[in-house]
Parts: sequence; C-alpha cells; structure tokens
Amino acid sequence: MLINGERIAAIDGRTFAVTDPATGEMVASLPLGSLEEVRSAVDAAESVQPGWARVSPRDRGHVLGSAARLVRERVPELARVLTLEQGKPLREAIDEVRGAANVLDYYAGLGSAFRDEFHRLSPGLDAQVLHEPIGVCAAVIPWNMPALLFAWKAAPALLCGNSIVVKPASTAPLTPLALAEILHEAGLPRGLLNIVTGSGETVGEALVSEPRVRKVSFTGSTPTGRRVMALAAAHIKRVTLELGGSDPMIVCEDADLERAVAGAVAGRYYNSGQVCTAVKRLFVHEAVADEFTRRLVAAVKGLTLGNGLDPKTRMGPLNSATGLEKIAALVHETRETDTGTVIAGGNGPTRTGNFYEPTVVANVAEDSRLLTEEVFGPVLPLVRFHDLDEAIVRANRSPYGLGASVWTRSPSYMREASRRLEAGIIWVNLHLKVPPEVPFGGRKQSGIGRENGVQALEAWSETKTVLNRL
Ligand code: NAP
Ligand code: MG
Repeated sequence: MLINGERIAAIDGRTFAVTDPATGEMVASLPLGSLEEVRSAVDAAESVQPGWARVSPRDRGHVLGSAARLVRERVPELARVLTLEQGKPLREAIDEVRGAANVLDYYAGLGSAFRDEFHRLSPGLDAQVLHEPIGVCAAVIPWNMPALLFAWKAAPALLCGNSIVVKPASTAPLTPLALAEILHEAGLPRGLLNIVTGSGETVGEALVSEPRVRKVSFTGSTPTGRRVMALAAAHIKRVTLELGGSDPMIVCEDADLERAVAGAVAGRYYNSGQVCTAVKRLFVHEAVADEFTRRLVAAVKGLTLGNGLDPKTRMGPLNSATGLEKIAALVHETRETDTGTVIAGGNGPTRTGNFYEPTVVANVAEDSRLLTEEVFGPVLPLVRFHDLDEAIVRANRSPYGLGASVWTRSPSYMREASRRLEAGIIWVNLHLKVPPEVPFGGRKQSGIGRENGVQALEAWSETKTVLNRL
C-alpha cells in the first residue's frame, strides 16, 4: 500500500501473499486494505489535487518524463519482479516495462501541447473551451499487463491535473507499486498517486463507490466492469471501461502464410493467451486452411513452456490456478461434447505451477464456448470459411468488439474488412500491437471510452465552455 508517498501496513495488520505462478512460492506479503485505507488514500488525493491543478501541464509532463528515464534505467529489475508475480517470459516482461516507459514519455511530450482553446465565434462573441481536471480519480487494473495498464491510466490522469487512487490486481500488485515509487522519485508530489492493495470486492468496490471519487477507469473482465458501472451510476461518475475481448483473426486465401502463422502464434500465445486483444478466434480461408494448419501446429509445438525466468522459455504459466482451471475445463468440455478436435497441446497442469500447454482446436462447432465466450489462456480455436463476407459476418457474431485483424494482400479485402468489422481497433497484416499514440478501446461489451492518444486527455478532463460577449 502506498498512501501519501509512504508504504504503509493495513490498520488491522492483515496481509495477503503474492505468489510466483511458476512455482507456487511466496514472492511477497502485502497489506490487505480495507475501507479505512481507501478513505485515507482518498483524503490524501483530495488534499493535494487543487495544488497540482495549478501546476502547468508542461511541468506535470516533466515529472512523467523523468519517471520514464528512471523506468528505462531499471528495466532489468522491474521486469524480473513482473515475471515473478505474473509468470510471463522475461523477454515479454522487458517489453512491457519498456512499453510503460514509452507511455510515460508520450504523455510527458503532450504536456507542452495540452492547451485550452480560444474561438472567435463572431465579432461580438468569443468562446474559450477549458480542459479542467476532474479531481480525485480511481483506477482499477488487472494482472495481465500490470505495468503497461498502470501507465495507461496514471500518465494521462496525472498530466490532466487529477490525483488518482489505484487498486492493482491482487495477483500482480508489485510492479504497479514499484512504478508508483519511481514516479515519486521523479518528483511527483506525495498524495497525488496512492495505491491501495486488497481484494476487488472490498477495496475495489469501496473505491468505486467513494462519493469523492469523480471518475473510475477500469480494466478487467466484463462481469466486473458491469458491476463497476452499476456502482458508479449512483453518483453519475465518469467511467472508462476496458473489458474482455474475443478478437477474430481472418486469414484470406491470398495471405502471406508465413507472416500469418507467426502473427497467430504471437497473437494467441503471448502472455500465455492472457491479453484482452489476443487472437481468440482464428478464421482461415478453406483454400489455405490445410497448409496454414500444418504450419501453425508445427510452430505451436515448438513453443517451449517453462518458468518465465528461464531464457529458453517461450510461454510461461497462467497467472492463477483459477485461470488454469477454466482453461482446462473448456478443453475437457470440448473433448467430452465432441465440439472440436484438439490438434496440438491440450494438457495441463503439466507440472508444479499453473502450466497449460499451448493448444490448437480445429473443427470447432459454431456454438462451442471456445467461440462464444472469452477464452483467457493459450487455446486457439480454428474455423474455416468460404468467403470474406461469411468470415466477417461470423467474426461480428460476438458480444465483444475489441480488436480484429485481417491478413491479405488485396486492398479491396483490406478496405472491406476494416469497414465492416465491429471493433475498436482493426489490424491489417498484424495483430496485438497497441502503440500509445493512437486511441484504444472496445465496442459492444468490450467497453466504453478510449485510452491512449490525445483522446485519453479528454477522458481525464472536464470540458468547460466560457462564452464572452464583447
Ligand atoms: P477482474 O476480476 O475483472 O479483475 C480486474 C481488477 O478488478 C482486479 O484489480 C480485481 O481485483 C478488481 N475487481 C474484482 N472484483 C471487483 C469488484 N467487484 N469491484 C471492483 N474491482 C474489482 O478480471 P480477471 O477475471 O481477474 O481478469 C481477466 C479479465 O480481464 C479477462 O476477461 C480480460 O479480457 C480482462 N482484461 C481486459 C483488458 C482490456 O483492456 N480490455 C485488459 C486486461 C484484462 P482482485 O485482483 O483483487 O480480484
Ligand atoms: Mg476476478
């Protein structure tokens, strides 16, 4: 827990353990927060926010820029902590920590560009459009990308002059805590950024319900997002929700198969499949399906499953035993009901730790849960299609609308897919890449609002219009 710039214990002294998903060993013991700590974090955030609102955006940006430099200097140690609590291969942890530094840098740069606007509407009428801080805000983040998602929320929130209280996921709170300490070292005044560790049901709900919190930015599952939105409704709080996804990847008959196979492997098995925009449904044109499948299975069988700290590892364990059980149950159900054929992997846990093999399922039935629900782990369902129109219609048949990719050499296929796929982000001949410069977010039940880009500054500000009669 980090309140007013200090690491503190829980008032009642209670703690919880953070464990290494690869070994089951305890990595750290942290204070289990309660309503009391949420209240003191909000007290701290409330008392310093007006002072921060008076600091120029450029100077606020300087703090973020200094923090980015410190994060870059400490990539090895931060990445190690991330792997220990989250499970991902060290190379992915390094990627993620560098990504967090890039986000801090991007918003640092926007500090000098973040301006109020002036409009002369007519000779007798001027208008100013002011971007004011919202006040005390809350961020609830998940465990799959804890460093990156911390930066996605904290950087624009602070740049816009808000203070923020963060509730990290209980299975991956250490990296966000370390990043928050770095921001303080970089000169962030105490109290502007507080972290309350503890359970989602207690700390998360108390934070979202706290009347003084004016905005909630949540990333996590759709059911929890629905709960957060309902709690926020009591005070008409601003909400940004980044929820689940079931991204389709469509491989057309003219695709570069080598690139498409590499894209599917990275897209599904990166972070053991625990990415909101992972490739969760793979549609392959029937003309290339046999060849594509053969190459895909060979690539998947070559992924070395192991402890993320081992340099040979290409895929780590799942973050939690609960996540592993869900994946194992889905594959079991697929076999029992004969609604798909497992053509690679399909076993787990394979040893101590939350390990599940990288898995491919072919001949998947239309109503299989592998296609209708979000599968948050290393299982890739493969579906054949006859023409692009059919693929798009089936791809859109999902309650989610986060990302989607199309793999083709044809400009008309590219245009057709980008126009018709219902998603917040469309990739053409790539998947998964989310640069901080462009907006990111979902349609349908994948969420509300956008993060990243200059669009995030709107989401972390209140717009005020002032009209002046001359
Ligand atoms: P989750 O239960 O929704 O947890 C996410 C965060 O919410 C954690 O910090 C959690 O705390 C907290 N939380 C849990 N219950 C809460 C409540 N009632 N009120 C307030 N906060 C609460 O998510 P998960 O099931 O662990 O994570 C996997 C899901 O997250 C997947 O469905 C995935 O798609 C989604 N996800 C989406 C994105 C995106 O950007 N769209 C990114 C990452 C993950 P505890 O850890 O203490 O429970
Ligand atoms: Mg949960």
